[in-house]
Amino acid sequence: MSDTIFSRIASGELPADIVYEDEDLVAFRDLHAQAPTHILVIPRKPIPTLNDAKPEDAELIGKLFLAAARIAAQEGIAEQGYRTLINCNAAAGQTVYHLHLHVLGGRPMQWPPG
Ligand code: AMP
Repeated sequence: MSDTIFSRIASGELPADIVYEDEDLVAFRDLHAQAPTHILVIPRKPIPTLNDAKPEDAELIGKLFLAAARIAAQEGIAEQGYRTLINCNAAAGQTVYHLHLHVLGGRPMQWPPG
């Protein structure tokens, strides 16, 4: 597995503004926030893209989303609403090849997304 910025954040090698972590996941504030609240939730396991997730990762992927909901509540954006999204590969705008779930909120979201 290739070493990415996010695997180095998960290992503690690189600093990040961490808002939640447990044995499976780390969540931290996006360096270039696109909304008042913009958090990335990553598995410690270095899965490059959603395409690389295996059936045995189902529980882990579920944990990403459940953590996102808890973090949204913690950030005070759960009731007003927020967006979760995963960019998969270049056409979707993925730039870091370590699976991550964006959690965006604190402003109205447009649809369709750009
Ligand atoms: P994506 O385009 O879906 O791959 O998202 C990658 C996200 O990671 C972008 O929103 C970046 O702003 C963010 N990012 C890149 N490097 C860091 C970092 N060191 N700490 C926090 N967020 C980062």
